[in-house]
Amino acid sequence: MTGDRVAVSVALEMLLAGNRRFTAGTPEHPNQDAVRRAEVVPGQSPFAVLFGCSDSRLAAEIIFDRGLGDLFVVRTAGHVMGPEVLGSIEYGVSVLGSPLVVVLGHDSCGAVAAARAAVQGGAPATGYVRDVIERVTPSVLAARAAGCTEDADYIDTHLRHTVDLLIERSRVLADAVEAGSAAVLGLSYRLADGTARLVTARGLDG
Ligand SMILES: [Zn+2]
Repeated sequence: MTGDRVAVSVALEMLLAGNRRFTAGTPEHPNQDAVRRAEVVPGQSPFAVLFGCSDSRLAAEIIFDRGLGDLFVVRTAGHVMGPEVLGSIEYGVSVLGSPLVVVLGHDSCGAVAAARAAVQGGAPATGYVRDVIERVTPSVLAARAAGCTEDADYIDTHLRHTVDLLIERSRVLADAVEAGSAAVLGLSYRLADGTARLVTARGLDG
């Protein structure tokens, strides 16, 4: 870890402020120059771990208007997790000192749509795509059981499930949230206007 650890609330405000600049069309592109490049050579202390869907339309540093050394990014289709994802996120929090873990979902998510189609009896996917879809399926089944019909409700349910699952499976994250030294949030991104809406939070006021 290098530099001082920032507070959870400060980290969240940095992230949301960047998203406001992006949506307003007034990005500042901070930390993207040669000075910053040199500054972070000795080490990194990203203020947030971003665990998002791989979708090419939600590139992390662009939609949060940040630069080098700011975000520790882990992305998989449908933000599904396995041991490598958990290890990467834990590294960002426990070794690099990030106080914030953000799960980033979005509307029109192909992974969620594919899981919904599979649950409705569609043809199963092949190869490892099937593995991704199967990891989204519990969220889809839960949303369906709760009577959800809208895409947004499925996305929100999958975000809540992912945040809960992270804390359930990672003792490191659970302890950090419990100690008030980290928060795990779920943000839902809208492709059309670029906004990131808070859907769920664990440890935000800790
Ligand atoms: Zn997606």
